[in-house]
Amino acid sequence: AIPLVIARSTSLGASRGLLVKDREALELAVKSDIMILDKTGTLTTGEFKVLNVDVLSDDYSKEEIIGLMAGIEGGSSHPIAQSITSFAQQEEIKPAEFDSIEVVSGSGVEGESNGRKYQLVSQKAYGQDLDIEIPKGATVSVLTENARAIGTVSLGDELKQTSKRLIDVLKSKGIQPLMATGDNEKAAQGVAEELGIEYKANQSPQDKYDLVESMKNQNKTVIMVGDGVNDAPSLSLADVGVAVGAGTQVALDSADIVLTQSDPGDIISFIELAEKTTRKMK
Ligand code: ADP
Ligand code: MG
Repeated sequence: AIPLVIARSTSLGASRGLLVKDREALELAVKSDIMILDKTGTLTTGEFKVLNVDVLSDDYSKEEIIGLMAGIEGGSSHPIAQSITSFAQQEEIKPAEFDSIEVVSGSGVEGESNGRKYQLVSQKAYGQDLDIEIPKGATVSVLTENARAIGTVSLGDELKQTSKRLIDVLKSKGIQPLMATGDNEKAAQGVAEELGIEYKANQSPQDKYDLVESMKNQNKTVIMVGDGVNDAPSLSLADVGVAVGAGTQVALDSADIVLTQSDPGDIISFIELAEKTTRKMK
């Protein structure tokens, strides 16, 4: 039978910005060895600011590049999409019309406009070196037409207020924090250094899944924290999956715990709650 103590703690959890969907997660959390954390939208606000737009082709003006970026982002719910569409609005540039748009999880969007195929994707997905200056710590996405780079956008993101405290608490409790992100090496390194944390950059949704799997194969108890479509598979696989409340529905569905205020600091309360309930059970 499920002890009453846990039942009480579960409702307690709700008032602390936690929704505990699976009570077993509390027992597993106290045994956890490692916490794998997504970057964008989890440790950072995901509220990107457009820092720079570069034009890489003589066939397009800067306005056209921004219009294409805003148009193709119309099909995406990624935090980057929101930033690019509001940037275009600010600059009073009309989004280009797209006939079809598809989201590619963990890398970006692709679509067709005016009979041409466009993609707006991560540097990793683009796969070739770019001749541009990247602002320190920036996230860069590349706009391609028929696989040829025609423009880039650099975006900056900020840490959430409680991210650093969470990392410090994890370390004091002997839980190893590890950041896994789909973002580029430099952007990942910037955030990781600020937090004092190990990291893995350029991680596809499959890479994140494989990472959780390899930790589990080493008999480690794994907590995974994430917000995106790209995190859903690893959230389900982890011993404890923690989703950020403001994240996408599939992430919420895949998790055992939801951070209803989207505050990483509430993970501290979750672990303390887990410690208390298991202590009482003994
Ligand atoms: P994280 O793992 O940190 O949450 P994502 O996996 O969501 O990051 O995204 C990885 C990278 O893919 C981003 O840094 C960005 O370069 C690119 N990307 C993803 N979605 C979009 C989009 N809608 N528009 C432009 N770029 C995108
Ligand atoms: Mg994310």
